[in-house]
Parts: sequence; structure tokens; C-alpha cells
Amino acid sequence: RPSVVWFRQDLRIADNPALHRAASSGRRLICVYIHEDDDPAVEGMPSPRKPGGAARWWLHHALAALDQDLRAIGGHLLYLKGPAAVELDRLIDRTGADCVLVNRVYDPEGAARDRMLTERLAARGVRLLSHNALLLHEPWTVRTRTGGPYQVFTPFWRAARALGQVPAPLPAPAQIDMAGTAPAGVPLAAFGLAPVIDWAGGIARDWTPGSADGRRRLGDFLDRHLPDYKSDRDHPGADITSRLSPHLRFGEIGPRTIWHAVHHRIEAEGLSGPARASAQGFLGELGWREFSYHLLHHFPHLPTRNLKHQFDAFPWRDDPAGLAAWQRGLTGYPIVDAGMRQLWQTGWMHNRVRMVTASFLVKHLMIYWATGEAWFWDTLVDADPASNTASWQWVAGTGADAAPYFRIFNPVLQGERFDADGRYVRRFVPELARLPDRFLHKPWTAPASVLTAAGVTLGTTYPHPIVDHAHARDRALAAFAGLRATT
Ligand code: FAD
Repeated sequence: RPSVVWFRQDLRIADNPALHRAASSGRRLICVYIHEDDDPAVEGMPSPRKPGGAARWWLHHALAALDQDLRAIGGHLLYLKGPAAVELDRLIDRTGADCVLVNRVYDPEGAARDRMLTERLAARGVRLLSHNALLLHEPWTVRTRTGGPYQVFTPFWRAARALGQVPAPLPAPAQIDMAGTAPAGVPLAAFGLAPVIDWAGGIARDWTPGSADGRRRLGDFLDRHLPDYKSDRDHPGADITSRLSPHLRFGEIGPRTIWHAVHHRIEAEGLSGPARASAQGFLGELGWREFSYHLLHHFPHLPTRNLKHQFDAFPWRDDPAGLAAWQRGLTGYPIVDAGMRQLWQTGWMHNRVRMVTASFLVKHLMIYWATGEAWFWDTLVDADPASNTASWQWVAGTGADAAPYFRIFNPVLQGERFDADGRYVRRFVPELARLPDRFLHKPWTAPASVLTAAGVTLGTTYPHPIVDHAHARDRALAAFAGLRATT
């Protein structure tokens, strides 16, 4: 009898434990992706959060790329549309499959659904076998001395590293045999993921979804930037980070592949001193990704509720005009605006600037972090159920091991420190490009003659700051002090 390989957040053929195991069994396979977008879930069965706009664009192209990769080894990807439980039932009826292989997901809805599906399928004699493709270590294997979850990164990462060797990535199957009984499915276009209007032009210029480009980016990063990662990673204009995040998000490349590739470089090139520390620093960022999934697994309300409950009483502001200015990159703070425009134009934002823009929303505008999280969810190609929510809670001060609320980024100083030569701001806020460096991150301090010479008219070609930094800081700190007094 054939086996079903159900792809979800693991859109690759190499280092894919579910596919590897199914192919090694010698059985015929049905490789399937089930799109659930607009269909109501089966009663009582949770449905994972729908991808946002940028992620939908990515997913469309990632699925097409996976289909190509499967075709190269004798298979193809069957597209089904509808509630997963119903579509799996139908597929099993039609093909007589007695086994469904998956790689695990960790979002609360997806994980709960897998548990229910395991029982539902078992009742009809079909096994659901799950594997780990998404993480270096399962979230429940990293435990404190008392057996509980970690809430602080450094000891978490120390414990994760002490778990021992990360298993080597599995090779892609050389050949798979598809079951002839599989239905035709629907065309990929029927998922409606690709935009009808080409709003995604900027995204398409920067990105090529699929495993091949993920591997290319990894190789490129290791060749060109790994030794300087630690010193340059915080500078958005240098743009030397790996940009692997969307490929990791959709499972086009696995963390084990990255882990072993980095270790191979460390050993093969005998990296030592700062270059070795740089490589370890990069692995530590994969650690933050693991930590986010650890938190999501142990605190499933992470996407919807403050981990620090005292923030439930915080006087968040309702400020539609401020929110719109933030979303459109028109706050009057160049580093914030550059970040928000990079996000809108390219579906991605540099990590340092994610921190600055998120902090601005939560602290300068005092808008609840979930509002910003939802915007990032819709606009990031790497929008991730764990990293996005954990990072927003981290910035807001409401999360585990979070930056304290009272530490408020000054967007001018952040710009001057991390974009000193203005390369980043000039690229994304071109109307300020001709301002001299010393005024670039605070155009309102420039003399009128300098503004005129640079072609800048504040309030016309570029906004005045929508909120004064010192005032916003005092307001946020007063609200925080009030909260501490009452909780
Ligand atoms: P690199 O610096 O090359 O790092 C390599 C990989 O490590 C990344 O691809 C990513 O998978 C992981 N990583 C790096 N930094 C972090 C981090 N702080 N937390 C978790 N994982 C990390 N990352 C996402 O993948 N998806 C998100 O939705 C997301 N939302 C964020 C929201 C906010 C407010 C903030 C502050 C950060 C967010 N991040 C998110 C984390 C981080 O900004 C991105 O992972 C990183 O910028 C991706 O670029 P890169 O691949 O070049 O990273």
C-alpha cells in the first residue's frame, strides 16, 4: 500500500526526514500539499494561522519549486484544496494508503490538529508518523534542572548545546516512485496565492523562493560574510546577514544543514579568533530561532497574550494616524521610515531595524505589540509563527528574557550608530539622500539653507517627526511607572 508524504513547513527534498523515511521504505508515494485557505475547518479541529500577503507570494513560488525538485527524482507534488482532515480522508479512500508521514509543526493550532489527526486516522487503521525537520532540537528536549521550560536565552542555549551532536542532514532520495492511484488534484493557481495585481515586484527582484536559492544564499554567506558577521551584522547598510530567514521559515533549507555547513567551515578553514567567534555568533542566532520555538511550544498563548501578565493592564493607545504613518514609513524618523519602507518594498527588514521600528511602535506610539506583529505577519516573507511573536514580545518588554520596557531606543542615536554613513537611509528614503550625514538621522535640526540645498522641505517632501522623542519617552516611562504602582 502506498504512503502519503504531507508537506507543510518543510518544502524541500534534502534533509527531509519524512520524505527520506517514506522513500527508504520502498513503497509507492503520494507527495501532497493541502491548501486550507478559505475553507472552514472540520468541526472541533483547529486551523493554523493563515499566511499573510508576502508569505502567500513566497508559498506560491516555493510550492512550484518543490514540485520541480520532486519531478527531478521521479515524483511530483499533488495540490489539494480544502480542510486537511477531509482531504486526507479522501486521498486515503482513493489510494488505499495506510501511512501518512509528516514533519512536525509547533504552532499551537497545527500541533493540536496533528494530535487529533493521529487519533482520527488511527481509527481507520492509518498511521500518522511525525519527524523533526524544522529545528535542531525538539523544544521539549531542552529542560531546566527541574524539568521545566527555559525563559532566559543564555542558559537555554547552553543547555541546547549540551544535548550533543546535531544529527547530520539526510540526503535527498535519488529516486521515488509515485502511486498511480493518486487523484489529479487542482492546479497550483487554484490556491489563489499569487497576487492578481503585481504589488510584489520589489519582492520578486530581491528573492527567489525554493531550496536551490536557499543553498546558494548559504554558500554565498559562508564564502563572503561569515568571518565578519559578528562585527557587521548590526549595520543594515552593510547587508551582510545570511537572508536565510524565508528559506528557513518555509523549510526550504533545514537548520541542520546550516549548522553542519558552518561547522565544516570552522574546521576545514581552521577558523580561530574573531572569525571563529563570528561563526559561533551566527549559530547563536539559530539559537534564538530555537528559543522562539521553545517558548511557543511551552507557552502556546505567546502569539495572543503577554507572557508577563502585568502588561495586561498597560494603557496602550489607540492611534490610527500614528499606526498608518508607521506602516507607510512616514514617521519623520529616517531610520524607522527606511525600515518600514524596506519591509513594504522587499518583504524583509534587517534585524537591527526590526528592533528599532518595533520599539518605536510600542514605546513611542504606545500601540499594543500585537498590532505591529500583525503588520509584520502580513508583510514579511519570513513571517514566522514563533520568531515573529517571540521577537515582538521581546521588544515590547512583555515576553520572556525581554528587553526591559524602560529601555527605550532613541531612533536618532540608533540611526547614527548603526547607519553612520547613511547608506541604508539614503536607499530607502531617497528624498533625504542629499542631506549631509550629520543631519541625515535628524533632518529637523538642519539649517534652512542645508535643507534647501538638499531639496528637502519638511512637512512637504518629508514629514516632521510625528512625536517628539523626549516627550514620547517620558510618556512611556510614566505609563510604565503607573503600571508598576498598580500591579
Ligand atoms: P541572520 O542574521 O543571517 O541569522 C540567521 C538565521 O537565524 C535567520 O535566518 C533566522 O532564522 C535566525 N535568527 C536570527 N535572528 C533571530 C532572532 N532575533 N530571533 C529568531 N531567529 C533569529 N525572524 C523570522 O525568521 N521571522 C519573523 O517573523 C521575525 N520577526 C521579527 C520581528 C521583530 C520585531 C524582530 C525584532 C525580529 C524578528 N525576527 C524574525 C528575527 C530576525 O530579525 C530575523 O530572523 C533576521 O533579521 C533574518 O535575517 P537573516 O536571515 O539575514 O538573519
